[in-house]
Amino acid sequence: MDSNKTNCASMKQACYLCNCEELRPVEVIRKRPALETDFGIKPSAYLRRIMLCNSCGVYNNLHTYDFEKMYFGKYNKDTYDSSILARYNAIMNLPSERSDNKARVKRLVDFCGERGLKLKGLNVLDVGSGLSVFLGEFLKYGVKGYCIDPDPMSIEHAVRNVKVSGAFRGSFMEYESGFKFDIITFNKVLEHVTDPVSLLRKAGGHLKKSGFIYIELPDGEAALRNNVLTDREEFFIEHYTIFSKRSVRGLSELASLSAIKSESIIEKSGKYTIFSFVEKRHPLISG
Ligand SMILES: [Zn+2]
Repeated sequence: MDSNKTNCASMKQACYLCNCEELRPVEVIRKRPALETDFGIKPSAYLRRIMLCNSCGVYNNLHTYDFEKMYFGKYNKDTYDSSILARYNAIMNLPSERSDNKARVKRLVDFCGERGLKLKGLNVLDVGSGLSVFLGEFLKYGVKGYCIDPDPMSIEHAVRNVKVSGAFRGSFMEYESGFKFDIITFNKVLEHVTDPVSLLRKAGGHLKKSGFIYIELPDGEAALRNNVLTDREEFFIEHYTIFSKRSVRGLSELASLSAIKSESIIEKSGKYTIFSFVEKRHPLISG
């Protein structure tokens, strides 16, 4: 089926979530889609495969490029230019009807309201904070913001301009602290790492008993319903995993978490997204 056997031989062949090796081919992509960021891969070397896991239902983007390494300092330069503050201000100033971040914050505010949680003073940790637009919006409600990001530029910007209460530069897996948070958020982050289950499990260990985790992931199943796969950003090369509601449930379970609420939406920007609120799994009554 594939003439480029050398490249394929070194590709990962198991699911990033559940490690199952029963993967169903969905598409082989040999050319960078027009709207995908150019990460400098030679056109002749461009090759990746979208494979659907039979076991957990996640779409895997299998290739040989190491995007996790790239996030340590280079990603923001490629994606955001050097003017991080100007970019931050431009997105902060988007009106509500065009802002994914304002809608995201509203979902969190509404959810806290449903749970009877007072926002003022809640400790919110955003993992993979990037431009910190989300924290910037959420801080308006009186929460205390904390962030983790591998990019030193993002961290400097979060401290200096966004005024977060604490920031850690590095991978969340390297973060060591006894501090517990009320809310931990992963906004379009888990699809960028090869082991999202470990990150989520670790987050469970940094949650207060009453705390919860908010997750946003690309919804591959919805994106494919009326679109061509290579046209959709959900399936672009920097996403190792692309989800369905079933695979989000699987991800939570593998990380010893339980889903409280999960919903499939089309965002203001046109992205197909699944958002979920999850909490630590309560001990089951054995019977
Ligand atoms: Zn799987």
